[in-house]
Amino acid sequence: MPVADFMEAALAHPEFGYYRTRDPLGATGDFTTAPEISQVFGELVGACVADVWLRAGSPAPFNLVEAGPGRGTLMADLLRAARNAPGFIDAMRLHLVETSPALRKKQAKALDGYSPDWHERIDTVPDGFTLLVANEFLDALPVEQYVRENGAWRRRGVTCENGAFKPATMTETASFDIDAGDGAIIETSPAVAGFVKSVAERLSRDGGMALFIDYGYEGPAVGDTLQAVRAHKHVSPFDEPGEADITAHVDFTAVKNAAVAVQAYGPVGQGAFLQALGMDVRAEQLMRNADDTQRGEIAGACRRLTAATEMGTLFKALAITGKNTPAPGGF
Ligand code: SAH
Repeated sequence: MPVADFMEAALAHPEFGYYRTRDPLGATGDFTTAPEISQVFGELVGACVADVWLRAGSPAPFNLVEAGPGRGTLMADLLRAARNAPGFIDAMRLHLVETSPALRKKQAKALDGYSPDWHERIDTVPDGFTLLVANEFLDALPVEQYVRENGAWRRRGVTCENGAFKPATMTETASFDIDAGDGAIIETSPAVAGFVKSVAERLSRDGGMALFIDYGYEGPAVGDTLQAVRAHKHVSPFDEPGEADITAHVDFTAVKNAAVAVQAYGPVGQGAFLQALGMDVRAEQLMRNADDTQRGEIAGACRRLTAATEMGTLFKALAITGKNTPAPGGF
């Protein structure tokens, strides 16, 4: 089967899919994300979102949407910050796009009092001015891979031999305007493009903003970015499908190309984005009420989010805005 179908099945199979069967986050899980590292991350995203809402004229009601909310940590921190915008909470209708029953339970707990509606897909979120955030969501959507063989780009698939999965080349070919030697791999993601396109259509029609934060690059580029993580260690994406988190780096150029009829901002590095939104000011505020150990932890967490050697440049932020929506801060 094509790599994308394999990835889709490994992550989303109704019975055995990785995201269907567990909470993968945190020290006892498989990986840790920015909102789980520091509350400052979600608070700054909240300030960004609330600021756009205020400058758009405080439309009411409006949809606040998160795609792939994990444990609900980002949204809880976002809402704590956005409460400072008068009327924001009253005008907001909270919608969570989440396929995992285990994570929906955690989100319900973290967001108790905000009455979220859950969706399997973005399409069922009602029309209207929409502010959407998605952190480490696009990387979980399936990618197609093509491998260069004898001057042609051939679709890459996964086969099973004696109970073991391994990559294989399929007969289908595709053409890309990129030159590379034999063995090179190129990735596309129809799933990412489809998701972004439907968000962009909504924004261009009804107004609003979508903010995507993820690890990725600005294509076109060659490279095999398919990776799997289990218990905080890299493993082969082909071993034990359904037991490890499989992701691919996000091509932000492809995201921009899918975002038709909207204005795009970025991508900028996560470090620059958080700094521009006032990370140092917020960290200092938190440190004022902290003891020495906590101060060290706050500083360490902020460094992890922004340092170029950590998450500061590999992770990127990209925003798109629709009709009559002002430019977001942070870019
Ligand atoms: N945003 C969170 C979690 C990132 S993990 C954080 O930053 O901590 C990826 C999230 O996307 C999980 O909540 C997972 O269940 C969800 N997810 C993965 N594939 C999805 C899909 N196709 N549709 C909706 N949610 C999905």
